[in-house]
Amino acid sequence: MKTIGVLTSGGDAPGMNAAIRAVVRTGLANGLRVMGIQRGYNGIINGEIFEMTSSSVSDIIQRGGTILRTARSEEFRTEEGRKKAYNVLKVFGIEGLVVIGGDGSFTGAMKLSNEHGVKVVGIPGTIDNDLAYTDYTIGFDTAVNTVLDAINKLRDTSTSHERVSIVEVMGRRCGDIALYAGLAGGAESIIIPEQPYDFNELCRTIIESKAKGKMHSLILLAEGVGGAEDLAKKIEEITGIETRATKLGHIQRGGSPTAFDRILASKMGARAVELLMEGKSQRVIGIRDGKIIDMDIVEALSMKKKSDDYMYELAKILSF
Ligand code: ATP
Repeated sequence: MKTIGVLTSGGDAPGMNAAIRAVVRTGLANGLRVMGIQRGYNGIINGEIFEMTSSSVSDIIQRGGTILRTARSEEFRTEEGRKKAYNVLKVFGIEGLVVIGGDGSFTGAMKLSNEHGVKVVGIPGTIDNDLAYTDYTIGFDTAVNTVLDAINKLRDTSTSHERVSIVEVMGRRCGDIALYAGLAGGAESIIIPEQPYDFNELCRTIIESKAKGKMHSLILLAEGVGGAEDLAKKIEEITGIETRATKLGHIQRGGSPTAFDRILASKMGARAVELLMEGKSQRVIGIRDGKIIDMDIVEALSMKKKSDDYMYELAKILSF
């Protein structure tokens, strides 16, 4: 293999730049040409491809977002779109592709590989931590720390006013951001899609907390369960305690990546290139029990993500 390409696809995540840097510099250190592809799969189809040098990735390890930009591509979902993409990759001599993104991006990579023989390796870049085959995805740790920072600030003002504070965080199907930030931030309640929750019990907890002398209640809500505004109204109606909703939104996707995310991204980026040099394809990189692993894309995508019941119960016990 002489030339590889790298792209970011789907939602951006802090640490994607550190992964790009690792791919480019590992590739160059091993005598490969590395091509940067802009705007995800659209960038292949539109030929937004340029040769990367070591200095193309200077001064980016600490930056959030992705220097390659990211996009969602409807055209790439079609067979014709992927054929076009393959033809463009051929023109640029790209034989191997590193795709940094989530499950959708991995599925696209797999199809491109099945249909046209392009060698592909996926790196999990998404703040949601919604991929079952890996303990962590790049960007998750930074997002949790961003939420934690917001919680700390909300605690101050909620305590002063003796309010209930509901913080709505990202996570449509996977409640990991709420769970991890909730445990780390000492939330009274954590509401996530994977765990059933009882509204009456929630109100009881709030009322009992107040009776015990707690100055505030903090509730972490994953967006997949519902909106914070609606829940705040309902809680206020039942408990009579002033309840405020804060939706953190896209700030969770930005910011300088944490040391954990930078190190994870660096290791994963390097491993992806090594796999391509070994002639491997249709693999995704992950981390399990602290070790970098790789696995077949189909097998990885067929795994069902489970919520950490122990952490969920622990958060409940510790907030008592
Ligand atoms: P995130 O977790 O941030 O949403 P993702 O990679 O899952 O990231 P998607 O929007 O699902 O994000 O996918 C990104 C792109 O991958 C899509 O715009 C499309 O081009 C391609 N893709 C997704 N699913 C498929 C599919 N089933 N077949 C072909 N291409 C796909």
